[in-house]
Amino acid sequence: MIHILTPDVYNRIAAGEVVDRPYSVVKELVENAVDAGANEITVEIEGGGKTRIRISDNGCGIARDDLPRVYLPHATSKLQSADELFGIRTLGFRGEAVASIASVSKMNVVSRTKDAEAFSLGCEGGAAGEILPAAGDCGTVITVDDLFYNTPARLKFLKSDAQEESDVTNMMARFILSCPEIRFTYYVNGKVRYRSFGDGLAAAIANVYGAGIIENCYEICADKHGICLRGFIGNQNFTKANRSYQSLFVNGRYVVNQTVSAAIMNAYASYLMKRQYPFYVLFLDLPPEIVDVNVHPNKADVRFADNQIIYGSVYSVVSAVLDGNSRALEYLVREEKGTEEKSVPAAETAASVERPIAPAVKPMSYEEAKKQVAFDLTPVKNQSAPQFLAPEDSPVWKVRQPDREEKEDVFAENQRFLREKSVQEKIEPDTLAYKGELFRTYLIYETGDNVYLIDQHAAHERLIYNRLKKSVEERAVVSQPMLAPYVITLNAQEFAFLIKQLPVLQEMGFDAEDFGGTSIRISAVPAELKDISLGKFFGEILGSMETLRAVKLTDILKDKLASAACKAAVKGGECLTEREARALIEEAEGDMGLRCPHGRPAAVKIKRAELEKLFKRIV
Ligand code: ADP
Ligand code: MG
Repeated sequence: MIHILTPDVYNRIAAGEVVDRPYSVVKELVENAVDAGANEITVEIEGGGKTRIRISDNGCGIARDDLPRVYLPHATSKLQSADELFGIRTLGFRGEAVASIASVSKMNVVSRTKDAEAFSLGCEGGAAGEILPAAGDCGTVITVDDLFYNTPARLKFLKSDAQEESDVTNMMARFILSCPEIRFTYYVNGKVRYRSFGDGLAAAIANVYGAGIIENCYEICADKHGICLRGFIGNQNFTKANRSYQSLFVNGRYVVNQTVSAAIMNAYASYLMKRQYPFYVLFLDLPPEIVDVNVHPNKADVRFADNQIIYGSVYSVVSAVLDGNSRALEYLVREEKGTEEKSVPAAETAASVERPIAPAVKPMSYEEAKKQVAFDLTPVKNQSAPQFLAPEDSPVWKVRQPDREEKEDVFAENQRFLREKSVQEKIEPDTLAYKGELFRTYLIYETGDNVYLIDQHAAHERLIYNRLKKSVEERAVVSQPMLAPYVITLNAQEFAFLIKQLPVLQEMGFDAEDFGGTSIRISAVPAELKDISLGKFFGEILGSMETLRAVKLTDILKDKLASAACKAAVKGGECLTEREARALIEEAEGDMGLRCPHGRPAAVKIKRAELEKLFKRIV
């Protein structure tokens, strides 16, 4: 039943222009289809969406008497009272989209509910016509023609057809990822661009990014205390040059959120080089009561009741998966058209070449997709899968603001859970035979049918780093008194923040004390960090005060530790004795997934077969 929201409700909804571009029209209409419980949705656009947009779904449909109301502002079936704003489980709730699209286009709705006939109702520039009997299956077909035909100023602001089309296409990719149980077909000017089959996330990712991507990913599924993080993240060697391969869905909604992306980036920090970005498709599901979705309608963001707990949960899960799952970068010999075998340089030049094991990622073309799967064109009707509609199907969430102790518990449990789950890719150090070195830089180890080349500097640096990190985390740091104490003068807010951190700083090896007024005096620092610039160090801690109040201070130390480790590590060109080379691999516990703290790989694997290919023993 669609009803009109009373002013006291809609005045509390963050409002704003919801439709300004073809992609926002598609977004709103597809969200309505998802909210209607459809498990099959077809989207067609022509002329970049300016000429025509049509969305067909097999959802619950709109009753005849409700049809005129879809064109009225503030008309919705999803929200009744302002209280419900704090527990929204549908994608829509503002009751604005259809009405505002209808006011700037020629719109037609054909809809049929279960046990009723189909009816249609058109609307031109906001003026609805008459309800007419129509033909149609259960569900809804909405056609939007000539978008902005009556608002030339807005039409002028649209980009080229190709650009608008590409924005719609990106959004359709996100829908396919966010609703992997829904069958989507997306046509551009009559040609299929995407087709998904509703058979799960891995398949949806393959539909969007190509079939090869999954083997470069780890699957995550961690669920504790009502916070569930699941999906796929790229492995340490699979990185992208920009953020466009990152999708986060919070309670089914596509979101770009600072807290979560910072948590993920920090978890990857020691595996990534500059300007590399991880791949991920992640779902964060939370009790709706602790997420506020009522942000500006055009901003893909949400607010969390507690950023701290969200940051911590995401960080701990992602870093546990990465740290427990490292793999050596594999050396591949690739046959290239018309050339000899091409060896792909790894460690040294990895920054400048595409990583050998990362296949180029491009969306599957229609032809390729067709080869892979035989299409089943019979629509599945009436098997509604109410993904966001039925609160009664959802688990009962306990709503409570967790206290600090509980938070730690969440992190610890998540980590334990993942540790149990993760498979360590380690090689027993005893089975690695040391075979010498190359260029006084790379150590050679043989095991079974594989050869590992280890960059002595990168590996040593990582090991020192791990050791420092551990001593910081275990608070077993040796302090080094300073000749002249360092005094930081702060503003009141900074002082209040830092004074609370004093015990932590002290445990980490800083001798820090309240120096009166709003200043703090540092008279000793952790010995490992004696060379850092204290001004910069505290600047960074204070800089993170706003956004990541919760970050463990030890995380901020990572960076410092990395540079300390770099200084202390053996350099390339220094000759190691065989004993030292053995000791290195033993300290690494045979972990061939090591990377230096700046993200460069420390180990490269060459398979015997690859060598034999080089020598043409095998082809
Ligand atoms: P909202 O989604 O915020 O409720 P909209 O303006 O997008 O507002 O839609 C208004 C109402 O029209 C919805 O609440 C819903 O009842 C109905 N509606 C729109 N599209 C569909 C659809 N595809 N299937 C069923 N009902 C729909
Ligand atoms: Mg809507």
